[in-house]
Amino acid sequence: MVRTRIAPSPTGQDVHVGSIAAALMNYAWAKKNHGQFIIRIEDTDRTRLVKGGEEKMLDTFNRIGLVADESPNTGGKFAPYRQSERLNIYKKHAEELVDKGKAYYCICTPERLTKMREEQVAKKQIPKYDRLCFSNQKEIVEQVKERNLPHVVRLLIPEGQVKFNDVVRGEITIDNKNLDDQVLLKSDGFPTYHLGVVVDDHLMEISHIIRGEEWLPSTPKHVILYQAFGWKLPVFAHISLLRNPDKSKLSKRKNPVWTSWYLDKGIFSEALLNYLALMGWSHPEGKEVFSLEEYIKVFDIKDIQKTAPVFDPVKLEWMNGVYIRDIENEDLKLKIYEFYNKKYPEEIIGKTIPLIKERIKKLADYLPLCEFFFKPPESFEIRLEAKQALLKNMKEELEKISEWKANAIGESMQALVKKLGIKAGEFFMVLRVIITGKKISPPLNESMEILGKEECIKRLGKLV
Ligand code: GLU
Repeated sequence: MVRTRIAPSPTGQDVHVGSIAAALMNYAWAKKNHGQFIIRIEDTDRTRLVKGGEEKMLDTFNRIGLVADESPNTGGKFAPYRQSERLNIYKKHAEELVDKGKAYYCICTPERLTKMREEQVAKKQIPKYDRLCFSNQKEIVEQVKERNLPHVVRLLIPEGQVKFNDVVRGEITIDNKNLDDQVLLKSDGFPTYHLGVVVDDHLMEISHIIRGEEWLPSTPKHVILYQAFGWKLPVFAHISLLRNPDKSKLSKRKNPVWTSWYLDKGIFSEALLNYLALMGWSHPEGKEVFSLEEYIKVFDIKDIQKTAPVFDPVKLEWMNGVYIRDIENEDLKLKIYEFYNKKYPEEIIGKTIPLIKERIKKLADYLPLCEFFFKPPESFEIRLEAKQALLKNMKEELEKISEWKANAIGESMQALVKKLGIKAGEFFMVLRVIITGKKISPPLNESMEILGKEECIKRLGKLV
């Protein structure tokens, strides 16, 4: 049975697009194998919790369509799915390791640990716990029990090497000498990430862990933990982190990294998922545009690539443009209507669709291009003061048109250009700016038809 998961920590304000890329692979792998995809909230680092972060994250997963089979919201067989509600489980498991001699109590003070580390660094040694408490573990356990002393539980890293296989990176061998006796349970009863993640992945029967490469250095400790418990290892796949087009690590300073930023700009969830599917994986036929359904069919974890994928918002917008052109006009109309909270008349939006479908790349591009359909321009991109005579002529000619259609408007204006003997380019630029306020707009004659004769004449009239 394939069971995958994504285990976000609510330490940011939303889900990072890189986490969606990882979640997508987990989701697809579970669905492809008729398994389950789980969302677990890892909220044990209490100092870094962001208020409202969890709700926002769960909402984003839903918005983008990566709906979990089990999660804090939906529940499931292995509930609770929020680590802060599972503290007794971690404590029990930490104690089990202590009883087996695979972990030990430590009562060293933070002051002692800092001093120890400073000395090690000064001696150019790898900073590691010196096992003072392990060397007199019997007394420490007695003291802890008798006096109820605050203590942590540390993993006893065994001698030797740890070996594991990573689907993306191949076989990995680490010398245990390089590993610190990791704290598993903190003195406040909260587990560290390492204990929480291993216990939960095991208890929740996770078969495949697909996650960012930033967790690779932690994996040897996890493997030692699995072995200490006597549990079967899941399959690991550590995927490469997303990069900016200049190859630097994707960070807030260069480009937005939060998923809802893109959705809020009117990037379709389907397009964002499609684009993210290409991060570290390619379609076997080299296709760039494909549905989630198709992705699930053709995706295989063995095809995940190691090279760092580039997340380019410009490319993402291009792809979204492809999705926009692909949907029915009626659906695009409704999307735009909803996107602007039903503020603009649905009927007018509907009429504008054929004019703008090829021109917008995301829903937020619509209003800057089309606002003039809903209210007269308040400013003009070229100066119109010296054009009074021309404006008057335009107005008079337009008033004569009986059937207000794009081609009639076009013909009438062309005739005027000829009559006046002026340059067509300049003429239409002036008219465009009068009607739309801008030098670039959707096709003018069609736009004027939609606006209606009265409104167009009114816009001209205001200026003469
Ligand atoms: N809680 C970790 C995170 O915030 C999960 C890492 C993992 O997937 O093991 O990403």
